[in-house]
Amino acid sequence: MIVQQILKSKGGGHVVTVKPTMTVAEVTKILAEKRIGGVIVTAGGDTAEGILSERDIVRALSHRGSGILTDTAETLMTRNPVCCERSDTADEVLRRMTDGRFRHMPVVEDGKLIGIVTIGDVVKARLSELSMERDALEGMIAGH
Ligand code: AMP
Repeated sequence: MIVQQILKSKGGGHVVTVKPTMTVAEVTKILAEKRIGGVIVTAGGDTAEGILSERDIVRALSHRGSGILTDTAETLMTRNPVCCERSDTADEVLRRMTDGRFRHMPVVEDGKLIGIVTIGDVVKARLSELSMERDALEGMIAGH
């Protein structure tokens, strides 16, 4: 299973992005409304300059208090996030997410943002692949 197949199974490459100048309060509203855990931060809309996740916001709230809500997304985001490409395998993406302890990964092509995969997307894809493999093996053993 490769990233391209995961993007297809999600129904394409729609990505929720925010501008670097958007306030953290506005970003939290988007995270809540869209029921997602992170957004890509991009000025022009087609490059992943940063990623701002609920964890960044919770950590900053805990350290500095509610004043951070009027800070901009770019002050809290992680710059130059680790990205993947369409041809990367689900196992490779999962390994990089586990090693880096993050759950979101922008998908890029020639440096341009074309999608996002989460650890949930990758685990779901791997589980369905493993289930198909198990069915095929059972079929072979049963002689079907
Ligand atoms: P997450 O588990 O994705 O909510 O993020 C945990 C931490 O890793 C946060 O500080 C994020 O800004 C950061 N992060 C999320 N995705 C990535 C990524 N693809 N590359 C680098 N850092 C990331």
